[in-house]
Amino acid sequence: MRTKIVAGNWKMNKTARETEILLNELSAKLPDTDAEVMVAPTFVNLTDAVRQLESSAIQVVAQNMHFADNGAYTGEIAADMLLDIEVDTVILGHSERRAYFHETDELLAKKVKQAIEKNMRVIFCFGEELNDRKAGKHFDVVAKQLKNGLFDLPESAWAQIVLAYEPVWAIGTGETASPEQAQEMHAYIRKIVSDAYTNSIAQKVSILYGGSVKPGNAAEIFSKPDVDGGLIGGASLVGDDFMAIVKAIG
Ligand code: PEP
Repeated sequence: MRTKIVAGNWKMNKTARETEILLNELSAKLPDTDAEVMVAPTFVNLTDAVRQLESSAIQVVAQNMHFADNGAYTGEIAADMLLDIEVDTVILGHSERRAYFHETDELLAKKVKQAIEKNMRVIFCFGEELNDRKAGKHFDVVAKQLKNGLFDLPESAWAQIVLAYEPVWAIGTGETASPEQAQEMHAYIRKIVSDAYTNSIAQKVSILYGGSVKPGNAAEIFSKPDVDGGLIGGASLVGDDFMAIVKAIG
């Protein structure tokens, strides 16, 4: 049985007070679930969020981190700073980081390596753009992102990796990959992980889908055999919507 995960990426949203209010709502409404439920508030609110959720099953994760231990990297956050406030999971490679902050596969490989060495768990995001899909290149693009970002890792690191397939054309657009498109890509991802490593690693790694998941489409997407959960943007900012998505995973 693979770990099921529903993670909310809050991006650059919610002040401290708004974070507190939404976390209160989520804690109160969290349904019984086998899935791990995670939220990723903005950096300045992580410490308070961890304290607030101390006795909740909801985990607090980070949206990004730097590859270095420390040093002259103005505006950046190191792994040890996250671990110090009891955040041990980090989202890396989100398409917004790739597009707006020019994070390349090579940079991401360094970040992933650092997180693994620090014993953190990584939610590694990747996915093709609309032009890639239209040109029929989506499988190649995804294979390259995975190879460049992850395939230098030793086998032992894969216990710390969660994959998040997020087609860029579906993020924040209201356009969702069909459940069949998601399943097709997730099965392909499992195959290339199996080819690069072992079938056992490929069968164990959780693969989340992200891209306009909403209460109305979550159950159908999550019903696909290779979809192990979701990375949720917009809908994770609304308590009832996020909890409906958690309910949909069962
Ligand atoms: C995301 O940003 O990871 C995401 C999936 O966003 P949305 O759900 O809003 O498409």
